[in-house]
Amino acid sequence: MTARIIDGIALSASLRAQLKEEAAALTANGCRPGLAVILAGDDPASRVYVRNKIKACAETGIHSELYELPATVEESQVLDRIRALNAAPHVHGILVQLPLPRQVDEGKVLETLAVAKDVDGFHVQNIGSLVVGKPGFAPCTPAGCMVMIDHIGCAVEGRDAVVVGRSNIVGKPMALMLLQRSATVTVCTSRTADLAAHTRRADILVVATGKARMIGADMVKPGAVVIDVGINRLADGKLAGDVDFDAVSTRAGWITPVPGGVGPMTITMLLANTVRSARMHAAQGTGTAAV
Ligand code: NDP
Repeated sequence: MTARIIDGIALSASLRAQLKEEAAALTANGCRPGLAVILAGDDPASRVYVRNKIKACAETGIHSELYELPATVEESQVLDRIRALNAAPHVHGILVQLPLPRQVDEGKVLETLAVAKDVDGFHVQNIGSLVVGKPGFAPCTPAGCMVMIDHIGCAVEGRDAVVVGRSNIVGKPMALMLLQRSATVTVCTSRTADLAAHTRRADILVVATGKARMIGADMVKPGAVVIDVGINRLADGKLAGDVDFDAVSTRAGWITPVPGGVGPMTITMLLANTVRSARMHAAQGTGTAAV
């Protein structure tokens, strides 16, 4: 079997075209969607992620503004910036790029964000909404994975889904989303005794470990849908996922490539959440086109 590719670049392009139209319509009605990004410190990977997000905003007609803070920034300064953005009517989404400098408490920062502007979906209240199945902002990476699974027409209800990894930003919310859709969900971690015994049962396998190519063909059920969240830089400078793409492609039914799979979808979901937030603020009369 040769797996079919789930092309995150093509799917993102069509979704972003729709979002662009929606952003234009909101702008014409006096509420241009706006995203504020806070970048603290000089982590080079964070800089690249932020640059890509800002570029994607510009291409979609979303206003963006970047607040760069030094690595020595005090926690109170970050919190003050967030409070000002919470109150700014032209800002509909606020993104704090993680990781933060050591002296800044990530939990405090995320809980200071206005829930209605938390377009990354990391505020405990948005996570709580996910737990109880209420509407809220869902974290972008697992949301993008769900859109990919739906896009290929993969039924979720009643299927065996295995998530490898339990981070707060990928593994846990991914498991909750699959559970919400009535999959039978297993979450595996670094402590799982026999990982392959679990992954081999998966109709839907989502891998988010940060361990390059750790999932081989013998760990995958024939015909499975394999979603590879991992982004790993190899010694030769190339990028690889957590799944051995060449080997698993001979066995899976569908597979996401790295790069060009989940990565672009994560940014697309950020844009979608920002446009949705602007729509909600406009409906409540709290969003204005100040820019
Ligand atoms: P974390 O490091 O926060 O979590 C990794 C998880 O994988 C942990 O729960 C860990 O288990 C588990 N794990 C590690 N090794 C194994 C193993 N051998 N077997 C089973 N489980 C294992 O990572 P993130 O969730 O933040 O990110 C995961 C990957 O996804 C990274 O490569 C990251 O770069 C990428 N990523 C990609 C995004 C995108 O847009 N495409 C967005 C976000 C992340 P334990 O808890 O027991 O330690």
